[in-house]
Amino acid sequence: MYADLHLHTNFSDGTYTPEELATQARRHALSALALTDHDTVEGCARMAAACAQHQIEFVVGAEFTAEHEDHELHLLGYFLDTGHASLLRELARFQSVRQDRIREMVARLNRLDIPLEADAVFALANCRSPGRPHVARALVQGGFCQSLDEAFGRFLKKHRPAWVPKARMSAAAAIALIHDAGGLAVMAHPGLNHNDGLIAPMAEAGLDGLECYHTKHSAAASEHYIHLARQHHLLITGGSDCHGLSKGRPLIGTVKLPFEHFLRLKERVPTRPSAGAPAPPPPG
Ligand code: AMP
Ligand code: ZN
Ligand code: FE
Ligand code: FE
Repeated sequence: MYADLHLHTNFSDGTYTPEELATQARRHALSALALTDHDTVEGCARMAAACAQHQIEFVVGAEFTAEHEDHELHLLGYFLDTGHASLLRELARFQSVRQDRIREMVARLNRLDIPLEADAVFALANCRSPGRPHVARALVQGGFCQSLDEAFGRFLKKHRPAWVPKARMSAAAAIALIHDAGGLAVMAHPGLNHNDGLIAPMAEAGLDGLECYHTKHSAAASEHYIHLARQHHLLITGGSDCHGLSKGRPLIGTVKLPFEHFLRLKERVPTRPSAGAPAPPPPG
């Protein structure tokens, strides 16, 4: 049995609907999934229903963009309470910042004589958590670029003329927010950080796990991060980071987390009354 704990839908920058993603997961014989859209949990209700239809275990998640001492890192929150007020307030704030960022990217493109309209990007994105891939798709759809690669390469990549930095919350604050919402905090794709020095301070800040298995990790890199996870007493997780068809072939099914790691993650979930957990015994 296997799990995939890093997936995106069209509630952020993936292309699959939750139902399509669950169908793909069934085809790849995955037994558990987590949805980790950027800055939103809105797709989770539909994903949960679709997974139930396929007898797939489902975990609510989200991916947060964070920083520690000016180094960017992504944090995955798992088993989040989707009704948690301060979580929803923070997510709404980051969604609004993302929308402002789209307007700023479009304004920069306009100054480069590319008459793209922000509303075209928003219409195409059709979600509250739009990102650069939506701008790239709108550039292709408008005939301004031939491909997504060209759109990123010419305009949207870091330090290209339409690139706008993304708002990041402090990693310690993100971990605290995830914990506050009843969840577990996992550092996403550490291999993409090129900075293993982030792991110790994050473990110190309460990080629960490390995404050792990921599309962009070689077998050797996965082994390396499993070793570091053990060293820092972190749970081992993994996922494909599938964005549907936006990056060529869909990645779901290419990274499979052995189920024992998923079971250990579940054991660590703090019980909360709203999750249907039994009330703790009275003190004394
Ligand atoms: P954002 O969160 O708006 O900064 O967008 C990040 C998304 O853009 C992630 O899903 C990345 O994988 C994707 N992305 C970043 N660079 C590229 C690129 N050069 N080509 C295609 N997608 C990219
Ligand atoms: Zn993404
Ligand atoms: Fe990420
Ligand atoms: Fe991701």
